[in-house]
Amino acid sequence: MADFDVIAMGAGHNSLTTCGYLAKAGKKVLLLERHDYAGGGAATQQILTPGYHHDLHSSVHIMIQANPLITNDELDLFKKYGMDYKYSDVPHATIFADQTALMTYKDLDKTCEGMAKISQRDAEAYRRFVELGQSMLPMIMPGMYKPQPPLGALMAMLDSSEEGRVMMDMMQRSSMDIINTWFTHDKIKMHIARAVSENLQLPDELGTGMGTVMFTALMHTYGVAQPWGGSGKLSESMVRAIEATGGEIRYNSEIKRILVSGGKAKGVELVTGEKIMARDAVIGSMHPHKIRQFVDGVSEPVLKRAENASLAAFSLFVAHYDLREPVQFRTAEKDVEKAIMLTLCQHESMADMQRDFDAVKRGELTDMMFSAGNDESKTDPSRVPEGAGMWHSTGFAPFNLLEGGSSRWDEIREAYGEERQKQQGKFVSNLNSDNIIAHKFYTPLDLERNSPNSMVEGDVHGVAPYFYQSVGHRPTPDLGQFKVPGIDSLYLVGPSMPPAGGVVGAGRAAAMVMFEDLGMDFDSTFQTGESKSKSTVKARTQAPDDGAVRLFDENDAELMTVDSIDTTDDELVVRGKTFGTMPLTARLGPGDLRRAAKMALSPAKFMTIVKMLFSKD
Ligand SMILES: Cc1cc2nc3c(=O)[nH]c(=O)nc-3n(C[C@H](O)[C@H](O)[C@H](O)COP(=O)(O)OP(=O)(O)OC[C@H]3O[C@@H](n4cnc5c(N)ncnc54)[C@H](O)[C@@H]3O)c2cc1C
Repeated sequence: MADFDVIAMGAGHNSLTTCGYLAKAGKKVLLLERHDYAGGGAATQQILTPGYHHDLHSSVHIMIQANPLITNDELDLFKKYGMDYKYSDVPHATIFADQTALMTYKDLDKTCEGMAKISQRDAEAYRRFVELGQSMLPMIMPGMYKPQPPLGALMAMLDSSEEGRVMMDMMQRSSMDIINTWFTHDKIKMHIARAVSENLQLPDELGTGMGTVMFTALMHTYGVAQPWGGSGKLSESMVRAIEATGGEIRYNSEIKRILVSGGKAKGVELVTGEKIMARDAVIGSMHPHKIRQFVDGVSEPVLKRAENASLAAFSLFVAHYDLREPVQFRTAEKDVEKAIMLTLCQHESMADMQRDFDAVKRGELTDMMFSAGNDESKTDPSRVPEGAGMWHSTGFAPFNLLEGGSSRWDEIREAYGEERQKQQGKFVSNLNSDNIIAHKFYTPLDLERNSPNSMVEGDVHGVAPYFYQSVGHRPTPDLGQFKVPGIDSLYLVGPSMPPAGGVVGAGRAAAMVMFEDLGMDFDSTFQTGESKSKSTVKARTQAPDDGAVRLFDENDAELMTVDSIDTTDDELVVRGKTFGTMPLTARLGPGDLRRAAKMALSPAKFMTIVKMLFSKD
C-alpha cells in the first residue's frame, strides 16, 4: 500500500521546487535524501569552525531571479517560510593584475562610466549590447520556467523574423565571437568572458554566444542575489513549505533503484532494501548518464543518447577559509567588496586567458589559475562570529587531469590548494597563516563524490550549455520534457534538465508537466495569469486598447497580436508579435486562401462570421 502520492529521489533545490508545487496543491510528498541535509548544490553548512556558515556549492543566485517561484512567491517562501534575498548594486567585478578594477553595476550608466575610463568606444558598445539583450529578455524569460519547445520548432519560429534570426545567429556562435564583434579592449573582453564562463563554458566554444548577451542583460535587469544567511536558506525555506503541508523529507536515505512494473514507476528501493511505493509518481534527481543505473526497462537507443550527453569541458576547485578578521583587498577600489561575483584576473591579455582556457580543457593545470572569490561576511555578518571574516573561492580546473587522470586529485589537493592561495594573495593581503583559522579544499573529484548522480565528472551544471542540448533538447531530445520514454509516472529533475543548470528553480517546469499528467490545473492553482478558467470575455476586456487584433488559443492564452494584414500580388501577409515582443510574419498564398475560404464558407459558418462582425467585443 502506498503512503505517499509522490516520492522524490533527492532533496536538491529542484526536486524541492517540484515537490513544493505538488504539496501545495494537496499531494502528499516524500523526499528521500542521501545526505544528512537538504538542498544538494544549494546548501549552507558549518563545515569547519562553529559559527562560520559556508555555501558548500552554489552561492550566487542568478537565473532564478526571474522565476515566478521568486517573483510571484508562488510557494510563499518569502511570505511564510523565512526566505529573503540580499541584492547588491555590484553583481560582478574584476580585479586585474595591476590592481585596477572594473565593476558591472546593476545601473547601466554607472557601469558604462567605469568602462569609458578604459575605452570610450567599448563603453558605448556595451550600452547597445545590454540594450539588445534587454530587448530579447521579454521573448525569452516568460518561457524559461515552463516546459521548453523542441529545438527544431523554436528554430523554425525564430527563422520567421529578422529579430529571431539575430537570436539564432547568436545561439550558434561562440561567446568569443560575440565579444570580439562588439568589444576591442582586452580588460573589457576578459571581464565579460570570465563572467559568462561561470556557466562552465569555454569562451570559444560554438553554441555559447546567446548566453553572453543574456547573462549580461540579466545582471542589469534582475540583478543577482544571495539569500541572507547563505545559498542554503532557499532550500531550508522550501523544506519548511513542504513540511507545512504534511510532506516529509527523510535524510540519510539513499535510493538504489526506481521500482518499475508494467512500464510504470511505482516506487523506490533504498540501499537498505526498504521499498516505498508511490500512488501517483516518482521523481528522480538523475543525471542522463545514470538512468541505466537506476531504471530498468528504458530502451537502449534512449539510454545510449542519454549517455552521449556532453559534459562541460572543465569543473571547479573550491576553497573555504574561516578567518580571524575579514579579508583586505590590495586594490583601492572599495566597490569590489560589494561584488556578488568577484573575478581575480591574473591574465594580462585575452590571448593569455584563452591559452589557459585551452589548457584546462586539455586537462592541464595552468601556471596562472582562474580564480573568483569573496568574503561573504562583509555584506552578511550573520555568516561568521562577530568581527571575523571568511573567504570562499572557486576556480576552473579540469576533472580528468592529463597526468594521472581524476584520481590524482587526491594526491595533489593540498599542494594545489596552497598554490591557489598564494596566487590569491596577489589580490588579498591577509590570506595568510596569521589570519586563517581553518580551511577546506574540494577538488573536481570531491564535487562528483558529493553529487554523483547530478554532477557527473564535476560538471556542476549537469551537462554542458551547448546549442545542440538546449531548450527541449536538454539533455537530449528524448528527455527534455522531464520524462523518460517508455516509463510512465517517472519524472526527471536536476541540473541537466531545461532550461539550465545552476540555481534556476527549473523544477517548476517539471511540476507543470506533472500537473498536466495528473489532471491538475497549475495555472489556476498558482494564479499564473494564464489560467484556463479565465473567461474569454474577461481576457478580451483586459487586453490593451492598442488597435491590435489578438489571437487566443483554446485556453484563452494570447497566441499573437496582429499588427497589420497586407496584400502583395499573390499573398496575404499577416504581421504581428508572439511571446509579447517577438515579431512573427505569416503568409497565405492563393492555394491557402482558397482552402481557408472553403473551410469558413459553409452557409452556417459564413452567417456566424457576419454576426461576429456586428456583435460587441
Ligand atoms: C562548487 C559549486 C559552486 C556552484 N556555484 C553556483 C552558483 O554560484 N550559482 C548557481 O546558480 N549554481 C552554482 N552551482 C551549481 C548548482 O549548485 C547546481 O547546478 C544546482 O544546485 C543543482 O540543483 P539540483 O536540485 O538540480 O541538483 P542537486 O543540487 O545536485 O540535488 C540533487 C540531490 O539529490 C540527492 N541524491 C542524488 N542521488 C540520490 C539517491 N540515490 N538517493 C537519495 N538522494 C540522492 C543529492 O544528494 C542531492 O541532494 C555550483 C555548484 C558547485 C558544485
